[in-house]
Amino acid sequence: METIWVFGDQLNTATGPLAAANPRTHRILLVESQAKLRGRRWHRQRAHLLLASIRRFARDCRDAGYDVDHRIAATFTHGLADHRRKYQPDRVVAMAPASHDARRLLATLDVDTEPNDQFLTAPEDLATWAADRKRVTLEDFYRWQRRRLGYLMDGDEPVTGRWNYDAENRERPPKDGINHWPTPVRDDLDDLDRDVLDDLDRWGVETWGDDPDGWWATDRKGALDRLDHFISALLARFGPHEDAMTTASWHLAHSLLSPALNLGLLHPREVCDRVEAAYRAGGIPIASAEGFMRQVLGWREYVWGRYWMWGEDYRHENTLEAQAPLPPVFTGDATTRMRCVASTMEDLSQRGWVHHIQRLMILGNLAALAGVDPWLLTRWMWESFVDGAEWVMLPNVIGMSQHADNGRMATKPYISGGAYIDKMSDYCRGCHYDRTARTGERACPFTTLYWDYLARHTARFERNARIVTQVRAAHKLADLDQVRVRAVEVLAALEAGEL
Ligand code: SF4
Repeated sequence: METIWVFGDQLNTATGPLAAANPRTHRILLVESQAKLRGRRWHRQRAHLLLASIRRFARDCRDAGYDVDHRIAATFTHGLADHRRKYQPDRVVAMAPASHDARRLLATLDVDTEPNDQFLTAPEDLATWAADRKRVTLEDFYRWQRRRLGYLMDGDEPVTGRWNYDAENRERPPKDGINHWPTPVRDDLDDLDRDVLDDLDRWGVETWGDDPDGWWATDRKGALDRLDHFISALLARFGPHEDAMTTASWHLAHSLLSPALNLGLLHPREVCDRVEAAYRAGGIPIASAEGFMRQVLGWREYVWGRYWMWGEDYRHENTLEAQAPLPPVFTGDATTRMRCVASTMEDLSQRGWVHHIQRLMILGNLAALAGVDPWLLTRWMWESFVDGAEWVMLPNVIGMSQHADNGRMATKPYISGGAYIDKMSDYCRGCHYDRTARTGERACPFTTLYWDYLARHTARFERNARIVTQVRAAHKLADLDQVRVRAVEVLAALEAGEL
């Protein structure tokens, strides 16, 4: 009898060694590592999602006839050793895990690995593709993916003759303040969920945020229900407000599928197949179908490949020498009068999720402008979002959000003052701060810090064609000296939790 060791982000019987296994010849090992849980301050829903999903996967595999050894152990190493002692397996095999640390661990434990097939693109294929090119961009990669995989294609060309509908997918939120978007699928919690929450408390796992409320799928059926809902009720309207932020709706038309994808409950191929079929059946605007495909087979796969290409040292990148601690408002140790940050943090606390623009242009933007240590921010985001994982967070945070990698991931920093936030949200109306002011006590902290950042990092960006205009504009400000004085006050207040 062989053992297949399945990790908590590999919960799918159609991937890895499980795809070719059967209950007569294979036993399944699942380990809940207490060291992993206790080593961090997780969002309560992140920790719950992981454990509840592992336990439901164990149940589903038992229902399918497998003998499942589901262990709660001090560490992964202890769990495997106890399993070997009890069952004496001929061999232990696993799908290659999704992190450098886990792969290094398996290499020391005499565990065979098979390739990770949870994505559409093997990292080696991206590396080979990139090696032939002078410049590697997401847009080029995305078009290569569309051609290679055949999604939304008409022969060798995109179905409508256009590759990119970003321009159509940047609408502001509706001004009426009404939630126009269907309510996401939600499940009632049951005894298994309550046991998980009790265990977290009993084991002394440090968590923050609200208890789960049933938004996130913790098994394959729940994940498929949510995929059905997205395709039938949301996909057609996904595009236009993809980047909008509104206090009227926390979800808008976002798919909310990233936690299920990142746990393995869904495979990106089945998601793309459903989007393709829905588009071909009619009624789905191309801007919405294209915008969603871009996220799944473009950005998500690009990030996965880049994580492996850039290796373990990427986590130490800090080109801008940012050293500030996490703002206490991120850790629940302070409140804020910045309505955009307060609203985003409230959403994050309630559900462990906010969408990509809230991550990039509210939380990431504030951290970049304040010079927060990029690795601290990466760890915090990894622990705080239900779809967090190292492979997701490193390129997205170190590279895209904080520009800490000397421009390898993105050619310019993703920063803005209050004007962009005001354009794309309803946050600024009713905020204590004035988004148009850059000096004075009521000046919008984003606006003050934005100009200060450009002035502070002039030497780094004065030859960057994508941002040099803004750098020059900063130096033409008649009140730049006052802006810099106000920026010092803002940074001190942010660090003290008094902003
Ligand atoms: Fe955020 Fe500034 Fe707008 Fe207030 S005024 S909501 S701090 S961007």
